[in-house]
Amino acid sequence: MSTSIGEQAFDGVRKLINDVCDRICIAKACSLRLAECKRELIVHFPVKMDDGTVRVFTGFRVLHNDSRGPAKGGIRYHPDVTLDEVKALAALMTLKTAVADIPYGGAKGAVICNPKVLSQNELERLTRRYAAEITLFIGPETDIPAPDVGTNPQIMAWIMDTFSMGKGYSVPAVTTGKPLDIGGSRGRFEATGRGCMIAALLAAKHVGINAGEATVTVQGFGNVGAVAAKLLAREGCRLIAISDSKGGVYNPKGLDLELLLAQKKETGSVIGFRNAETITNAELLELGCDILVPAAFEHQLVKANATSVKAKLIIEGANNPITPEADRILGDNGIFVVPDILANTGGVIVSYLEWVQGLQFLFWEEEEVNDYLQRILTKAFAEVLQTSHQEKVDMRTAAYIIALRRLASAMAWRGIFP
Ligand code: NAD
Repeated sequence: MSTSIGEQAFDGVRKLINDVCDRICIAKACSLRLAECKRELIVHFPVKMDDGTVRVFTGFRVLHNDSRGPAKGGIRYHPDVTLDEVKALAALMTLKTAVADIPYGGAKGAVICNPKVLSQNELERLTRRYAAEITLFIGPETDIPAPDVGTNPQIMAWIMDTFSMGKGYSVPAVTTGKPLDIGGSRGRFEATGRGCMIAALLAAKHVGINAGEATVTVQGFGNVGAVAAKLLAREGCRLIAISDSKGGVYNPKGLDLELLLAQKKETGSVIGFRNAETITNAELLELGCDILVPAAFEHQLVKANATSVKAKLIIEGANNPITPEADRILGDNGIFVVPDILANTGGVIVSYLEWVQGLQFLFWEEEEVNDYLQRILTKAFAEVLQTSHQEKVDMRTAAYIIALRRLASAMAWRGIFP
């Protein structure tokens, strides 16, 4: 029987959690809990559309684990999103916050919808109703949403406002990734891409690639992909290919990112960019380059195309872009992979800083935020690399080992209620 990408994704994360727990002898009482999500909420809710009709949408909010602190995780708006996919993403958030050693657990939410075809008014009504449906389960001390695919600072502002109306006072720390004017953090919008850039430079140094001469390909031209591409180019890397949902563009001499951004704004796609060859997303993944950043969706590198990957280094900007089989093939072929739970933690690290600022009503300069991010990520990268050497495992397994040890320790101290 064939299983969906969402089911495969959750099974994959769960299997790795179990395997690593067995390897490092984590108590069964912990591994059993980590193999499930603590809470899975499904809501079906009505929204008045602009044409006067009513549609019923389905949304999720999943809390995987909160042993180390309030749960944290984005909200995805996408027509194909499933509960299993959200469960996998929530579990990854628990691991991510533990790898970065920030005092959070993991959660994720989603609404099955296509935000591209909804008007701004419909999007607002949908968001506010979804926020109302999950309001009992979110809050600065319990579960703090953030943007993910298909959502943005405006959507975080509506969720924050809806939650605040219910309380009767403003609660900025209930969401992160908000606009600056209502308690967002400087540096948050670019944080995930900046984290990818930091991870790429650290990894390049480790494997002996000179970043100033490196060629880069990026799959995805959204919040993560576009910012990672921009910041890597600023470090001297040559961006030779980039793509969005419609396909990609390639020029071995390099692509001008500012012009690409302007075209994307005007036409909605990178396709048709002058002085560049049009390629498919599949072709992009197989191009010869030093650094590949998959920054779009799950399961883009699979058994069938992993053997064709020619990059020396892969930075997982997206969550779960490589299947377990593909991961093994890439490893056997000597490709150094920086896993999602390390490479794309920039967003949740700066979300943590935004939450801290929101709780204190004291806001920092961007330089301070970026320095903090650089420090946390550099430390996490060094710890994962050291564990990978000590335990003779790849970076993903090493990151899981660190995260699961921290989680097991927190669970052991807290015990089981009652
Ligand atoms: P986004 O919606 O801003 O951008 C997604 C991009 O991927 C768009 O350019 C879209 O056109 C492109 N895309 C869609 N389908 C594609 C396909 N089949 N092939 C190639 N490109 C395709 O989303 P985002 O926030 O940049 O998130 C991208 C990934 O990074 C997701 O896996 C997300 O979970 C992960 N992530 C995001 C954040 C964050 O802070 N935004 C943090 C951590 C991880």
